[in-house]
Amino acid sequence: MDSTRRRFLQIAGLSVLGLGVKPAIDALAQSGQPEFVHGPQALTGKRWGMVVDQKKCLKAKEGCKLCVDACHRVHNVPSMDNPKHEVKWIWQTPFDQAFPDSENEYMKEFVQDSMKGLPFIVLCNHCDNPPCVRVCPTKATFRRPDGIVMMDYHRCIGCRYCMAACPYGARSLNWRDPRPFIKTELDRDYPTRTRGVVEKCTFCDERLAKGLMPACVDACKEYKALVFGDLGDPKSEVRELLRQNPSFRRKPQLGTQPSVYYIV
Ligand code: SF4
Repeated sequence: MDSTRRRFLQIAGLSVLGLGVKPAIDALAQSGQPEFVHGPQALTGKRWGMVVDQKKCLKAKEGCKLCVDACHRVHNVPSMDNPKHEVKWIWQTPFDQAFPDSENEYMKEFVQDSMKGLPFIVLCNHCDNPPCVRVCPTKATFRRPDGIVMMDYHRCIGCRYCMAACPYGARSLNWRDPRPFIKTELDRDYPTRTRGVVEKCTFCDERLAKGLMPACVDACKEYKALVFGDLGDPKSEVRELLRQNPSFRRKPQLGTQPSVYYIV
């Protein structure tokens, strides 16, 4: 049993013994995050980020969902029958929903005309200033020094404060036991979740630790519409793309500072 889970069970035990739920949650929140250590194979960065190139996404076959399928397969994301119970880590959405308050109407016109209604790929933005992290009472969600906003499933108590705080709808709660709804072959290298736990994209932290690119980026190798890299490295491919192309982020006026950029 890992130490976080052991700690959680100790605290849950205190709660049952009569200390009450609030003190138990406070104790859990104060128990600190596991220390973040890189293995020798790990890809490392100062601030991980992604550039989504919509022009290249256009070149992909119509209805292409390679990135979505790859992500959901390697993370055992369930396919719920009831849309209200949907769990999603990366998905496609129309421009108006991805960028509802684009203040430049001509940009909007340009994107709508040139993108011919093609959906935009959206995912957790791994915000520099993540409201989801601020509201989590148990620190089940936290920001790593390299910018990845993580989830510790063992700490999550399913309060959904993070879901209410995220302005991008990037988090899903498992309303039901997700395991019977995993329609792809089970990936035994990645933990399945349980009912009452929130989940979301973690920029494939488990793959970065093995020196691999995120699954969505790997799946899009042919089109290169998704580029992942270190925003803190001026020589990285993501920085080069952002130098050469005008870019925008989702809901910048909220001050969340997303690490996912879009170029059109
Ligand atoms: Fe948190 Fe939402 Fe930002 Fe992801 S996109 S870091 S879930 S606020």
